[in-house]
Amino acid sequence: VLVLGGTDEGRRLAGVLAAQPGLRVVSSLAGRVSKPRLPQTEVRIGGFGGAAGLAAWLRSESVDVVVDATHPFAGRITASAVLASTEVGIPLLVLRRPGWQPVPGDDWHWADSLAHAAELLPTVGRRVLLTTGRQELPHFAGLDQLWFLTRSIEPPEPPMPEHCEVLLDRGPFTVDSELELFRRHGIDVVVTKDSGGSDAKLTAARLLRVPVVLVRRPSAAAADTVSTVDEAVGWVIRSTAT
Ligand code: NAP
Repeated sequence: VLVLGGTDEGRRLAGVLAAQPGLRVVSSLAGRVSKPRLPQTEVRIGGFGGAAGLAAWLRSESVDVVVDATHPFAGRITASAVLASTEVGIPLLVLRRPGWQPVPGDDWHWADSLAHAAELLPTVGRRVLLTTGRQELPHFAGLDQLWFLTRSIEPPEPPMPEHCEVLLDRGPFTVDSELELFRRHGIDVVVTKDSGGSDAKLTAARLLRVPVVLVRRPSAAAADTVSTVDEAVGWVIRSTAT
């Protein structure tokens, strides 16, 4: 079994599968984070070299099934997984946690892309908590009239907004710690991808009546998709039963 992605769900799934008798599980990480949280399985790190490279790897390791448990915005590796599993003729499952849903009190502004979020932002607030990941910072680089607190696991690289403080931190965060962060920096708008999962920053925003700019997910992959680790475990066990 190849499990793509070091997301929380990917790590949990890989750990459960590795405990099943008769399954060999390899987890694959992109290698973006210098000290990743590692799954309790065999791990390989780094790109495969596109869909063709992934297909060659699936063949050479005699992989029977692939689970794509990458982040919902990691579109290229998911596209590679769809192409490569089709080419090799093995089943692919996509494990995606659900996106967030607004509740009363939320002031959400949906953006179709990061570029669209950057366009909307000056009309929504001036002191920005930016949680879209360090690779997306260039989208916001031209917004010199705004102040940014960017939060990421690894340090971002230029181009960056002119007025920008970098916070290196890794979730999950608590509502209390988010409230404290918002207050300390006078945050009046949050920008996030609709990643799903832990929603402490969204709760803090609601409590403080701070608006949120949410970037919509890319369109769903053309593959069987489930939203929970339990469903994925069942699918793998059924797919690998002889
Ligand atoms: P991406 O745009 O879909 O992938 C770019 C390239 O990185 C892929 O073409 C592939 O290289 C390699 N890659 C990505 N995930 C891989 C994996 N699990 N194992 C081996 N190679 C992988 O992805 P991304 O947005 O750069 O994200 C990279 C990783 O960070 C993903 O695994 C994702 O789960 C995680 N992540 C992403 C986000 C986000 O917002 N995008 C947020 C949190 C975590 P080759 O073509 O050479 O195979």
